Amino acid sequence: MLIAKTISEVNSYLQKQQNHKIGLVPTMGALHQGHISLIKRASSECDRVIVSIFVNPLQFAPTEDLKQYPRQLETDSQLCEALGVDLIFAPTPETMGITGDTDTQSLTTMVIPPVSMTSGLCGKYRHGHFQGVATIVTKLLNIIRPDCAYFGQKDAQQLAIISSLVSDLKLPVKIVGCPIIREESGLALSSRNQYLTSTEKTQATIIYRSLKQAAISFYQGEKQAHILTKIVKEKLATVSEIKTQYVELVNTITLQPLETVETTGLLAVAAYLGNTRLIDNIILRQPIVAIDGPAGAGKSTVTRRVAEKLELLYLDTGAMYRAVTWLVMNSGINVNAQDRIADLVKGVKIDLIPSNSPELPVGVYVNEQEVTTAIRTPEVTANVSTIAAQSAVREELVAIQQSYGETGGIIAEGRDIGTNVFPDAELKIFLTASVAERAKRRMLDLQNQGYKDLDLAQLETEIQQRDEKDSNREIAPLKQAEDAIELITDDLAIKEVIDKIVQLYMSLNKSADQSK
Ligand code: AMP
Repeated sequence: MLIAKTISEVNSYLQKQQNHKIGLVPTMGALHQGHISLIKRASSECDRVIVSIFVNPLQFAPTEDLKQYPRQLETDSQLCEALGVDLIFAPTPETMGITGDTDTQSLTTMVIPPVSMTSGLCGKYRHGHFQGVATIVTKLLNIIRPDCAYFGQKDAQQLAIISSLVSDLKLPVKIVGCPIIREESGLALSSRNQYLTSTEKTQATIIYRSLKQAAISFYQGEKQAHILTKIVKEKLATVSEIKTQYVELVNTITLQPLETVETTGLLAVAAYLGNTRLIDNIILRQPIVAIDGPAGAGKSTVTRRVAEKLELLYLDTGAMYRAVTWLVMNSGINVNAQDRIADLVKGVKIDLIPSNSPELPVGVYVNEQEVTTAIRTPEVTANVSTIAAQSAVREELVAIQQSYGETGGIIAEGRDIGTNVFPDAELKIFLTASVAERAKRRMLDLQNQGYKDLDLAQLETEIQQRDEKDSNREIAPLKQAEDAIELITDDLAIKEVIDKIVQLYMSLNKSADQSK
């Protein structure tokens, strides 16, 4: 791993990385599990990972903790090295074009995000903060020119502002938002948690518990912003040491205040504990259920039935890959012509529309054309795995799937739904069964289809090989998410599995204190 302090060192590194996909994780150092999750996400999606470590003077007001902010380049470097980071960029303020601590903002070109996005939430109390962030992030993006840059949902206002900055200025980078990493207690990880005593750390857990309390009321049907924010304020007030700065409910993208939450909203808090300022937030939306697991564990049957029971949209990701396969074949393109397929799939429109038919409950449309039954032919089936293994197809479809997830209320199954597609799903299940059990089920299935002379040991070997292959795939490997609940179904009937998942879903509605 290299440590670059200057732009010319970065340039000479980048010159050797032509044709590699580069991921940037901008940080202020004092790395913790939150940062680590961004680095791991970048490693899983990019060929090279660059972490920038820069305590940005432009984003601190004179009264804030710039001098005191933890700096630990040595430990951070060791951690990055262990994680396989390729380059750390740790510039000085001078390298970033910042000359002094004070009044620099008036001496240099600044990037000014829209006032509508900076006038609420933290921006209301931290004047100039987001100008400072936007300016430095723009410089970092220009210096590193990454394909993707990774930011935490923990700083939701920052993430929304950077996303709109990149879109407004047409910067050629994809911004990837990553879920908040928390301690067991629910406290969101932050470099500033180092300032807290152990008593304060316990007191600080009220912040997440109050957000959860409001989320539960939302799940139960409460949509009015003033009631949801009141729930948070009242719960925060039960810990007298906590001094609430704001509780706001805003549009997740534009950050404009909401009066009611129709589909989704960002509920955010800032509070002081002693001199330490803490922020946290939660996205209000109907929960997302992600079901992953090995082939043959019964995921699709279970997912379909749970969707019906809970009235969630069954996001049939398999149907999406089939729809693209159909489109490729229908356009007369060879299924191995990756470049042509990448062009074809760019901007493809795939709609899943619930229908009343019990056999095919979801209508599938590709570029407005109905293909619900056309995607089930043996020809499509034979080619779908070739198409699904192509990274351009995968990227486009994951983005479509994630846009379905924005308002929540969906259930999806696959190999990487909880790890990659919806890493912030409210409920993640890893549905599995032993190889022997899956082989037995497969044998029964085949017998029911009229096959004879089946060899159970042979089926077991095939299943084992398939597991190996799926776990070691370069794109979207099968892996149990750390926060997934494992359901081993060897001794369970399908109905029992469904009931168990429904029960887990219902328990999301329990009060935050009950579920802790
Ligand atoms: P910072 O070093 O505080 O500027 O944070 C660097 C990046 O890490 C930002 O994109 C943060 O949103 C992200 N981050 C910080 N804490 C967490 C957390 N607990 N979970 C996820 N991401 C985080």
